[in-house]
Amino acid sequence: MTCSKIYHETPDVKTFVFTAAPHTLFSYKPGQFATLHLTIDGKKVVRSYTISSTPSRPHMLSVTVKRVPAVAPHPPGLVSNWLHTEFAQGQKIQISGPFGDFSCHSHPAPKLGLISGGSGVTPMLSMTRWICDTAAQVEVVFFHVAKTPADIVARDELEMLAARHPNIKLVFSLTRQELPCSWSGLRGRITSPLLDLSVPDLKERRVFVCGPEPFMTATQEVLRAYGFPMHNCHEESFGGPSVSQAAPAKLVDDEPALKFGLT
Ligand SMILES: Cc1cc2nc3c(=O)[nH]c(=O)nc-3n(C[C@H](O)[C@H](O)[C@H](O)COP(=O)(O)OP(=O)(O)OC[C@H]3O[C@@H](n4cnc5c(N)ncnc54)[C@H](O)[C@@H]3O)c2cc1C
Repeated sequence: MTCSKIYHETPDVKTFVFTAAPHTLFSYKPGQFATLHLTIDGKKVVRSYTISSTPSRPHMLSVTVKRVPAVAPHPPGLVSNWLHTEFAQGQKIQISGPFGDFSCHSHPAPKLGLISGGSGVTPMLSMTRWICDTAAQVEVVFFHVAKTPADIVARDELEMLAARHPNIKLVFSLTRQELPCSWSGLRGRITSPLLDLSVPDLKERRVFVCGPEPFMTATQEVLRAYGFPMHNCHEESFGGPSVSQAAPAKLVDDEPALKFGLT
């Protein structure tokens, strides 16, 4: 695939938009992920990234990547930083997929709770874009935890979608201690009182949770303590080891129409 556009979403998040030649219509479920196959410094590496675009706009496919910084004594993340600093519009890349089962298409429900932290926003973006584009009769609470207002990915677009679609409700909660006085929204990490306040009917919803490992663990604990029926909770963790060591992704091979191949 060829990188056709790059958007600077936040100070440490970029969206890479791909198209393929010959002209390809991408078919996947909202929330699924793809695997990028790269050669960096002569070494082959693979990493998985959620497809942040929506299958309702099949002419392009995008991934939205957050830089993983160095945290002493560990080095900065290899692929995320390479994509941010070395990868440019016009360059080609091998991408395979789609993979995974983390999708409201696979697990439909009339009421959803999409709960994300940091880069875990990406499958929620895809699902929300898809629900709006297809006029699906689904009520969504989009609950996102970020550090600061500037770290909320696609905030303008989400606010526009919520303004046009009464079935989309946005809840942002910010965790940085010092926040601008202009921030009048929620503050802090997910807790039972925060859920009660912002999604009082959460237990009636099918919930999707995505984010880095610590966010996943903390959210699971809160949902359990809150009495949420965990069989209605779907999870995808971005944290931990790179894809080669992560739990093997499930290839959706029972639905050939949903596959896109390597180019
Ligand atoms: C299904 C799935 C979907 C995903 N979707 C997204 C997405 O949409 N957006 C997104 O931004 N991310 C996503 N991720 C995460 C992504 O796949 C990468 O894991 C992430 O970008 C980090 O990759 P990296 O190569 O930059 O970091 P890596 O080089 O893999 O490093 C990861 C961490 O390991 C540490 N490390 C590196 N080397 C060592 C060492 N020798 N010893 C100890 N520690 C070390 C690094 O300091 C860093 O903290 C997803 C992951 C999965 C599994």
